[in-house]
Amino acid sequence: MKNRTSKLLLFFTVLITLTATLSWLPGTTPSNKIANATMNPSSNVKELLAPKKVVFIAGACSHGPGQHEHNAGCTLLASQLNKQIPNLVQATVFQGWPPDSTVLNDAAAIVLYMDGAEGHLALQHLRHLETLMKKGVGLACIHYAVEVPKDNGGPEFKRWIGGYFETFWSINPHWLAEYKSLPTHAVTRGVKPFTINDEWYYHMRFQDNVTGVTPILTAIPPASTLTKKDGPRDNNEFVRKEEGRPQHMCWVTERPDKGRGFAFTGGHFHKNWGDENFRKLVLNGIAWTARVEVPKNGVPAPPLLDAEMMVNLDQKPCVKN
Ligand SMILES: [Zn+2]
Repeated sequence: MKNRTSKLLLFFTVLITLTATLSWLPGTTPSNKIANATMNPSSNVKELLAPKKVVFIAGACSHGPGQHEHNAGCTLLASQLNKQIPNLVQATVFQGWPPDSTVLNDAAAIVLYMDGAEGHLALQHLRHLETLMKKGVGLACIHYAVEVPKDNGGPEFKRWIGGYFETFWSINPHWLAEYKSLPTHAVTRGVKPFTINDEWYYHMRFQDNVTGVTPILTAIPPASTLTKKDGPRDNNEFVRKEEGRPQHMCWVTERPDKGRGFAFTGGHFHKNWGDENFRKLVLNGIAWTARVEVPKNGVPAPPLLDAEMMVNLDQKPCVKN
């Protein structure tokens, strides 16, 4: 009898240890994983070692040639992840919101690269996204995808990615950003300081007191970015008070639900993806958002062929539907 009790005790100790360990492993939905693990440990381990699913959603044609190339940009980034870290990430690209949005349910991260504001594709899916975010799914937003209306999406994006572009507060000038030093973070692994011209939005509306936000790219915008007349995205009295102060053009956040957010305000010019450091930073950011351990030297970002840069460029001028 005593022997049986100690065996039972041992069994429950192992079970509790196993469930506790699995619940802390990244990218899992604790309750389901625990149930699966206790029923079939080997299949669960296989699942945990499988590459993380990353779903890119590319917005429609926009702007002139070589600008806001959402589909080509997503294609390029997704194919680089699949090629360079196939054991860690499996990425797919959808042009427009997936018709069957249940494909997002088992994603480790979702990447949005699309025009924002009132036409932001996520606005029709805030409730679904909220469910996914609560499960710990990562969210990465590139360029215009960081802009949502203040009262529709603003509060959600502030929670999900730590901050967003708010009209009459944030601005969208083109300028040469000099990133002279980078913080130590998984997202900056292997990235060297770089200088590049882009439409670097800045003066974002961050979580209150920037709590929970880790800046990744910080630079001081030149005074020339503050010369336009006031407007929703051009200039305003609040940003003018910030003249000469450092601004954050890329940042990450870790939510209480264990989900991760990554935001990058560059990405206006397609040719910038050809810059190794620019591209590596975003590849790292997406991998980190999917709770992948970013390689020691970052996701490899060897020079791209012209042909690789050209895949899936939109037909311009854009045809309005
Ligand atoms: Zn732009």
